[in-house]
Amino acid sequence: MYEVRFYKGNYKWRQIKANRDKCIAYIEHHFNASGSTTTGYAVTVVGYNASGTSKAWGRWYANHIGQEFRIPVAGQGGIAIGGFSGRGNGNVKHTNMPAILLEPLFVSNPLQAEIVRSEEGQDRLAKVLAGSIVEFFPKGGRIAFSVGHKYKTSRPRDRGAAVNGGGTEADYAEIVMEKAKSILENYKPTPSEPIIEEDEVDNDVRVIKNGKEIWSNADLDEDDEITWDEENRTLYLNTK
Ligand SMILES: [Zn+2]
Repeated sequence: MYEVRFYKGNYKWRQIKANRDKCIAYIEHHFNASGSTTTGYAVTVVGYNASGTSKAWGRWYANHIGQEFRIPVAGQGGIAIGGFSGRGNGNVKHTNMPAILLEPLFVSNPLQAEIVRSEEGQDRLAKVLAGSIVEFFPKGGRIAFSVGHKYKTSRPRDRGAAVNGGGTEADYAEIVMEKAKSILENYKPTPSEPIIEEDEVDNDVRVIKNGKEIWSNADLDEDDEITWDEENRTLYLNTK
């Protein structure tokens, strides 16, 4: 029920293409970084022009990352509206669908970088991301993914911040997004109620001999009469 497409090129161009493809949601994945090794919080950037859905979705994501990794959540309840002094705004503002820019962990923080570099951590990040999409877009549809920094025509070698212990922000963001894509494309909703076949009627008659069914009448419906005559040891089936 979900189809995930990766968009490449400069940020504005990615958004224009996602609009044309009628995507229902847009996500750009980054990791945060700072000069300090102890800074570490989750935040989601939404545009100045963000809809209520973008804001609620961004808050849901940041707060679930906060719970999952037991880290603080920053911004206004988890979201930075319009980015950090405008940075990040252009990455989402050209979309005509709900759009968020993820900054789940700090790769300059050794403890958080370890999560980013580990497969287990990547799986957990992907699960929260995919879960947020299922939560806010339960009917399914086409989802636009954008790997931050990577694949820009203007600066093709940009990979974002260096990750403590090795690797780059963009390469790990891409790994997490690939995992989230696979979760979403294999997603099947669990029915909230058991499915009852409309034609299923509990009025069948079976004769079991030594544990084996030797006769049955599955044609009977609810209105047919079944009478067991105890005295004559006879079963009467009266169909209407
Ligand atoms: Zn970045």
